[in-house]
Amino acid sequence: MTIDHLKSAVIKEIDRLKPEIINISRLIHSKPELAYNESFAADILTSFLRKNDFKVERGIGGLKTSFIASAKGRRKSPSIALIAEYDALPKIGHACGHNMIGAISTGAAIALKNVASSMAGKISVIGTPAEEGGGGKIKLIEKGVFKNIDMAMMAHPSNKTRVVGRMLAVVEMTFTFIGKSSHAAAFPYEGVNALDGVILTYNNINALRQQLKEDVRIHGIITEGGQAPNIIPDRASARFYVRSLDMKYFEDVIEKVKECARGAAKATGCKLRIDTRETVYHPFKPNYVMAEILRYNIKLAGLKEDSIGEKESMGSSDIGNLSQVIPTIHPEFAIGKRSVVNHSPEFVKAAVSKFGVDMMIKMIKIIAMTAIDIFSSPEKVKEIKTEFRRSNG
Ligand SMILES: [Zn+2]
Ligand SMILES: [Zn+2]
Repeated sequence: MTIDHLKSAVIKEIDRLKPEIINISRLIHSKPELAYNESFAADILTSFLRKNDFKVERGIGGLKTSFIASAKGRRKSPSIALIAEYDALPKIGHACGHNMIGAISTGAAIALKNVASSMAGKISVIGTPAEEGGGGKIKLIEKGVFKNIDMAMMAHPSNKTRVVGRMLAVVEMTFTFIGKSSHAAAFPYEGVNALDGVILTYNNINALRQQLKEDVRIHGIITEGGQAPNIIPDRASARFYVRSLDMKYFEDVIEKVKECARGAAKATGCKLRIDTRETVYHPFKPNYVMAEILRYNIKLAGLKEDSIGEKESMGSSDIGNLSQVIPTIHPEFAIGKRSVVNHSPEFVKAAVSKFGVDMMIKMIKIIAMTAIDIFSSPEKVKEIKTEFRRSNG
């Protein structure tokens, strides 16, 4: 079969699977589950894969709700993993559209396996829990789950359609100041004010911000600020996120932010504890050879990419960590108007809307056609790997 034949066959197959895929994305949407507790979603996705003759392994890398599903009887190389996310956000539900991500990756993999099994290469779906803060992919990388995978793809719902968007590294830090309480009017000189430590830290960071490169973001909240106005607070704390596009500069900025807190501790006479969350999201490194192939298929599918720069509206994700380990792309697709943004109640609705669902089906076709192009061109595979190696140098 020629590439064109394969592509039209895979599109037909996706149209055949469409009702089931839409149903899966709706079911996951109707039962939002938080990071590391996505057992319902993992059940639904893996039974869909099993029914279609995939070999499924649950709970890989020590995570209860992770999985890997591989198409049986295919040649091993190149090996493409389609990434499934399926966690929701606290209270608000599926406000990041992850119900669609699982459906897209499983739908595309099944269609590819059903019609393009003669092609060289291996397709698998890797279910990665806890993208919203837990960093499931980081744990799976550490456990060697991606060791035999050559490259990875996924597609993320958004307020825009964009093939390449960059993402920032992010770390969470908590500063706890310990002072000494005292009557705020009668014996203020006996006290050591922990809240002042927090306020000075906040202000020091505000002063630091002007001296930083433009892709840095630092933002935080006060999580503890004392008990009563007439008690000098003996304990106060603040939690900050620090983000940057450049890993090396990121380390420098983290150190500068810590110095802001250390300076505040010195000025107030407080003791300071700094807790840094161990899961650090790395910046996203796009593979431009893969991106170009996907861009070509976006046009084939009759979709239009929005003209929005790579460095506009940058967030952070654990796909960033994966992109540092193997060639990866993470296209975004609009599921509503530009004003309907991720993590809002409107986005929850868009994630099951008619427009959103139509876009989801188009994305499945685009991902599947991109895989066909990669499977059928050893030269492209080489180019993808070469670009990845060069960007590491
Ligand atoms: Zn999100
Ligand atoms: Zn998301």
